[in-house]
Amino acid sequence: MNTNHLVLYHNIDQVLTLKGVAEKRGRHPKKEDLGLIENANVVVNTDTNDVEWVGPSHEMPIEYGDISNAYPGSGELWMPELIECHTHLVHSGDRHHDYALRAMGKTYQEIAKEGGGILTTLKSTRETPLYNLVEQAQADLERFQKYGVGTVEVKSGYGLTLESECRMLEAVRALQESSSVLLVPTFMPAHMTPPEFKGRTDEYVEVICKEWIQEVARLKLAVFFDCFIEDGFFDFKQTQKMLEAALAAGFKLKLHADQFNDLGGVSLGVEMGATSIDHLECISDANINKLAQSETVGVLCPGASLFTGMGYAPARKLIDAGARIALSTDYNPGTCPSRNLPLMTTLGCSQMKMTVPETIAAVTYNAAAALGLEKVLGSLEKGKQFRVCHLQKTSYEVLPYCFGELD
Ligand SMILES: [Zn+2]
Repeated sequence: MNTNHLVLYHNIDQVLTLKGVAEKRGRHPKKEDLGLIENANVVVNTDTNDVEWVGPSHEMPIEYGDISNAYPGSGELWMPELIECHTHLVHSGDRHHDYALRAMGKTYQEIAKEGGGILTTLKSTRETPLYNLVEQAQADLERFQKYGVGTVEVKSGYGLTLESECRMLEAVRALQESSSVLLVPTFMPAHMTPPEFKGRTDEYVEVICKEWIQEVARLKLAVFFDCFIEDGFFDFKQTQKMLEAALAAGFKLKLHADQFNDLGGVSLGVEMGATSIDHLECISDANINKLAQSETVGVLCPGASLFTGMGYAPARKLIDAGARIALSTDYNPGTCPSRNLPLMTTLGCSQMKMTVPETIAAVTYNAAAALGLEKVLGSLEKGKQFRVCHLQKTSYEVLPYCFGELD
């Protein structure tokens, strides 16, 4: 057998495959579903970077014994690379002064009145050239990598003119050319109504539906379309209209829903086949069941709850009902300036009563499912991408235990 295209990693202390999690499509993840193999071998096809074989070293088929490219993995724990399925990575300007004002008891509206809030980021991002957007995002991306993350979703939404939204997405494209992190771009012009359309949100929605969605689709700048359905942002009808236009133009769907108010976003997202619905801090019991009975992944963002001091999403209820639950940083300058995905697993355990296996599934397989990539990422199995996180640890349980200090 010709083994020139194969590489063998042998005698790895522990490999976590998540095979059982993948078989259950991410629902009710239990310890036994993590597929822990002691003293494991992994064979990789270097032509495709796919896993060719994985299992206990003593069970490896004899033909792989001829592989000359062989490396030992002793002293390590391997698991699928972590997947960050919800970020606002590309932006300019920081918001620490907002946080100082918030700590003094000022409300969001008061901060906005003093010139802070999302408008600060909007103004700064609009004025920042492509090169600088890329440079800043590159540094953030490297920080994500230090936390074991290998795939990152990135949204537009701080430009809110067609030109600046495209510039944000072009920054993602430019980043992808120089980074080994897999990037998944999302077009999110419905982050808020921009100042030019103040009081005319219906007109803004019309422009998005009639012009912007078509142009971004034509330029192939994004895979997903996302929208913030909330009081004071976009209502049910406006959201429905945009999702329909995005779907017709070939985008997959995501939604920011039920963060502060239930405007029917979960029902709408599920009925329209959204790949994920994100936030869900105030999801109702009826909608928990609706989400659980669907393929749509619920993405929870406990870092935003910690940072703003607001409530956490009901992860326990969602998982018990059978929902597919992912965890994310929601990395953004306003409500969660953290790139520390392992820390989100700690918050999952301490604040949302998730078990360790549930948090592991939430940053691997279920996060891949939140990006529609679970057939190629999120578990280590034959035919899936060989993208692994190497931990110098004795147990996968350290991921939430390490309190964000992975190395
Ligand atoms: Zn977000």
